[in-house]
Amino acid sequence: MSNSFTFDDKWNIRFMQQAQIISTWSKDPSTRVGCIIVSPDRFVLSEGYNGFPHGIADTYERLHDRALKYPRVVHAETNAIVNAGRNGAKIDGGILFVTAPPCPTCAKMIVQAGIREILYIDLDKTKKIPGWRDELNISFDMFDEVGIPNKAISKKYLFTKAQLDAIRNKQMMNLK
Ligand SMILES: [Zn+2]
Repeated sequence: MSNSFTFDDKWNIRFMQQAQIISTWSKDPSTRVGCIIVSPDRFVLSEGYNGFPHGIADTYERLHDRALKYPRVVHAETNAIVNAGRNGAKIDGGILFVTAPPCPTCAKMIVQAGIREILYIDLDKTKKIPGWRDELNISFDMFDEVGIPNKAISKKYLFTKAQLDAIRNKQMMNLK
């Protein structure tokens, strides 16, 4: 199965690190997710991170109350797909890098967008969100059923949370 992936480890790690950088732009206080979609010849076609739609204000209440946040937030993968549509980027046959396993809603979009391959970072949110693993199984069942290869990238090659927080702090300094 390993030869079913388009890029070698070096490029998979590079692109996942780039998705991690994109994740730092998210204003979500609990989970920041980044996604990029890349062509088989290594052009970045689209990117996205989790957040509210354009024009929907990032108020403290909305960001900190899950009952207000969840119905409004667009996930990183869905944002990357929608941004491609908006920008006219052809992502059919693209390779998707995302810093978390895709939820079923994003998984449906990924299948429907014609993504050919998925690289992700394996996180476990089961403690915070009961039933989360069961939800993910639906995503990966769909990927298996349509034959989209997917694999997790080892965290040892990626930025740590502390490194990403440091990048975020640097970005904030620019805004002051
Ligand atoms: Zn999602």
